[in-house]
Amino acid sequence: AGRFSEVSQAAAIEVFAVVKAFNDDAHEKKVNLSIGAYRTDDSKPWVLPVVRETETAMAADTSLNHEYLPILGLESFSTAATKMVLGENSAVLKEGRATGIQTLSGTGALRVAADTLKHVLKYNSFYFSNPTWGNHKMIFEHAGFTETHQYRYWDAANRGLDINGMLEDLNAASANSVIILHACAHNPTGVDPTQEQWKQIADVIEAKSLFPIFDTAYQGFASGDLDKDAWAVRYFADRGFELMVTQSFAKNFGLYNERVGNLAVVVKDASVIPALRSQVTLLVRGSYSNPPNHGARVVSTVLNNPKLFEEWRTCIRTMSSRIQEMRAGLRERLEKLGTPGLWDHITSQIGMFSYSGLSAGQVKFIAEKYHIYMLSSGRINICGLTTKNIDYVAEAINDAVL
Ligand code: PMP
Repeated sequence: AGRFSEVSQAAAIEVFAVVKAFNDDAHEKKVNLSIGAYRTDDSKPWVLPVVRETETAMAADTSLNHEYLPILGLESFSTAATKMVLGENSAVLKEGRATGIQTLSGTGALRVAADTLKHVLKYNSFYFSNPTWGNHKMIFEHAGFTETHQYRYWDAANRGLDINGMLEDLNAASANSVIILHACAHNPTGVDPTQEQWKQIADVIEAKSLFPIFDTAYQGFASGDLDKDAWAVRYFADRGFELMVTQSFAKNFGLYNERVGNLAVVVKDASVIPALRSQVTLLVRGSYSNPPNHGARVVSTVLNNPKLFEEWRTCIRTMSSRIQEMRAGLRERLEKLGTPGLWDHITSQIGMFSYSGLSAGQVKFIAEKYHIYMLSSGRINICGLTTKNIDYVAEAINDAVL
């Protein structure tokens, strides 16, 4: 037998398996409400016009080439990305207490963050919300963290945040535990803490000397407003916390496969930054050596040009408004149909996802009878709804719940 003959079949990654099932389905009314990607009202992927315009100009610019980037990436990009999340008037930035590192999208930022915390700072314990995005656990465990914990988050009975459970669990964490927080538009629940609740969370994190990471995959995409979606990050930074922010530009720029991300690190004392960057350089060099240029150059060009920046802000408002319209439309239809249960959470939740409250059995029923695909947790990607399929989806949910 060959040396690989003992390798066992690993479980499929659910969200990619559901997309494959959708693609393989020939039914004309099929709907994909699974993977987190924006769709137009014609169910098509959207290349943002400002991105197309920037790429067209790049293609014609013969001064550009395909040389390697530095190991920590394109500086004009990581500087602009760090400023975007901390804010124009950030005291941290003025004091030189933040640094940015270009990464392979949000996932790569989380991995570099985890590697740094494990191998440089020797941390070993991390907490993620129950539930959370399906990749947090694996990223930290693969980086070598061995103490895996969850904090309570979703209150199923009230379809909201279990703030008391969350605070209790954080209170029980040992010092230097890494706490992964979703900056906005929590995936998968769509439920965020209020500003008052963020203050309570900050109090516990401070009292227990925990280390916060803000996973920021939806800045500007959630509410349409870059400042609003960064409120929690800026609140913690202004309060004097040391922290990390893992930024993805997949959704807000529609640059999913270009893998554009930034790891922003906020420190107490600016003088530690060169040594920290030198250590991260070794981690990245031993992992993927250096990041790709194309997407970061697009984002850098847009963020650093006031006219393109304004165009981009119009694009994120277009996407977030369409999502909000679809949320309102789905709720209205379910209420009109008299579908049992309360549906106000569909409009109070934010971002592309809604934790619908549908059971795994109902999800299966809807896939088999209606060819509508969602995750077994009942998470719906609202971006998959359009004015053309929303009646059909509402009827399917109604049929499953009745
Ligand atoms: N964190 C969260 C919470 C996410 O939802 C996502 C995207 N699904 C990511 C991180 C990172 O995605 P990407 O690596 O594509 O930027």
